[in-house]
This record gives sequence, C-alpha cells and structure tokens, in this order.
Amino acid sequence: MISLESGALYAGALDLWIDSMRSRERCYVSHGHADHARAHRTVVATPNTARICRVRFSRRTTRAPQLSLLPHSERPDRSVTFEEHPFNVPWYESEHRLTLFSAGHVLGSSQLLIEGEAGAFVYTGDFKLAPSLTVEPPEIKRCDVLLMECTFGRPQYVFPPRDEIAGEMIAFARESLECDATPVFFAYSLGKAQEAMAILGAAALPLAVHGAIDAMARVYLEAGVVLPPYERYDAQTFDPTRVLIWPPGGKALPPALRGRNVRTAILTGWAIDRGAFFRYGTERGFALSDHADYPALLAYVERAQPRKVLLNHGWRDFTHRLRALGIDAEYLEPHAQLSLF
Ligand SMILES: [Zn+2]
Repeated sequence: MISLESGALYAGALDLWIDSMRSRERCYVSHGHADHARAHRTVVATPNTARICRVRFSRRTTRAPQLSLLPHSERPDRSVTFEEHPFNVPWYESEHRLTLFSAGHVLGSSQLLIEGEAGAFVYTGDFKLAPSLTVEPPEIKRCDVLLMECTFGRPQYVFPPRDEIAGEMIAFARESLECDATPVFFAYSLGKAQEAMAILGAAALPLAVHGAIDAMARVYLEAGVVLPPYERYDAQTFDPTRVLIWPPGGKALPPALRGRNVRTAILTGWAIDRGAFFRYGTERGFALSDHADYPALLAYVERAQPRKVLLNHGWRDFTHRLRALGIDAEYLEPHAQLSLF
C-alpha cells in the first residue's frame, strides 16, 4: 500500500504522495517548512498548514518574475488546490480511513494515520513532544507500522526543560540590553521565531522581527495564537534597544546594526553539542528545538507500540538502539525502492 519510490513516499491505493520534494498531482504536506512544503497540484494538509503554504508560495512567486521558466513547484499559488482536513476528522478513500493529528512541531504540523485491512500506519513527519507556547499539543496514536523522523536519535541529545531554556534566553537578552548591546536571536522564520517571540515577550522584552518572521507571525495570529506586541524590522526606524529576531540564513546582520554593539545567539537543538554555536558564528546557542530529543523519540515508540518502526531524517544508528530494546526497526535509505506496508 505504501512504498518508497526513489526516496519519495507514495500510498499507491490512495494515489497520494507523502511530503514529496518533487511536485506531484496530489501530495500530503505535513507542515509548512521549506523542506516539506512544495506547490503540488493538490496539497492535502491541515487548514493551518494550508494557510502557511499560501503565504509561502505567494512570497516565492513574487520574487520570481519569469514564472513560465519555473518548475511547477515554484509556480503561483493559483495552480494549487488545497484539500484541507482538520485534526482528528477522518475521511475515507478506497477502503482506507485517513486521519491527520497534531505533530507539535510548528503551527498546523500534522502526522498522518492510515487505517485499512492491513492495520494502522502512522507517518510522523517532523514532531516534538515538548510543551510549546505557540503550537497545538502533539498526540501519539497506537499503530502497527510507524514511520518516524529521528533527527536527534543519539543519547547525548537530551534537551533541558523548556522553562530553563526560556530563562536563559531572557537572561541573555536582559544582560545584553543592560550593556547597551542589541541582542539578536537567529531562529527559523516559521515556528522557532514565533516561539522565541512568545518566550521573550512574556518577559516584557521589546521585540523587532524580520519581515519573513512577521509574515508567518500574522498566520499564527489569524489562527488565534497569542503573540506579544512586536515591530517589523525597518532599517530606517529600527530602535537598537529592542531584541531582534532574525532568520539564520545568510547570517548577515541587518544594515541598521552595522558598527553597533551586538550580541548574537542561535536557537537550535544542535546547541547541545558544545561549541555548535561557533559553527553558526554566534556568541551563544540555546537548545530550543522543534524536534523530539532522544528520550522523546523512545517515549513515542513506547506509547505507539508499533510492531515495526521505519526511520528517516536522522541518525542511522538509532535503528541499532531500537533493535537493542527488542524493537524491529529499519532505516529508510534516501534512494531505496521498497514496499513498506
Ligand atoms: Zn520541519
């Protein structure tokens, strides 16, 4: 029923691709991050992921005037149809019952449950179990076959409690402002940035954010998420006594900060690796992650109780760790061609 076709997941009986990186006729999109969301002919997603995709696809096309030269995946929103399914409202196709349920990764992020004669199959997409101020709480459903990501599938990846990370972020921002330096947090424009806004805003720190972060924050606000007041960064009017949240791509500081006293921090689970932030070129790193850490990956498997675990997007040796616990596990090589379920 579900197979891997040159690395892309395909549910044949449903004629449905799953998080395909190539544009398809009909594809389930688990969430709005660029490495999962492509402009397929029909996008199957939750209403909030659809909202995010509409904004992302339209931003991409406004930057690219020669539309006729673009592959379908980069073409305008108007050629994309959205098939929206809220969390836990199942629908039926070809004697299968399909359900989307929360992955807790970013706003609207979902997992896909397919139930049929062969049993229950769950595809997690990216997920986390840690509590969040801005994302729908995650769920775990029992299944027979589980296909999960294992980005942080090594024992050293144990994230500190969120409150502790939040406290350190706030302290860093306050100390910077007291020293007359502008604190800059680098965070992905979808998900991490809005969580950082909620954390820092709760401490009444004044915020400014990059335009791409503002665009996503507006989707969060439309969806009913509570975010603190903030300003969209403008080079002409930027006030350096604000905390700035900026996308990590390019690492370049905004023009208004050139020549000013600045302190920088990256928000990433990889900050657990001592010195990882040196790789990012920042002074500090805080392990604020949108992914499950190692104990959360194990907890997920324990609660879902699958007879088989398939793994992607992460450390291959997590397979051996699961096998050592008596769990039947297999890593999906990116270009494998095989039947999964
Ligand atoms: Zn993601």
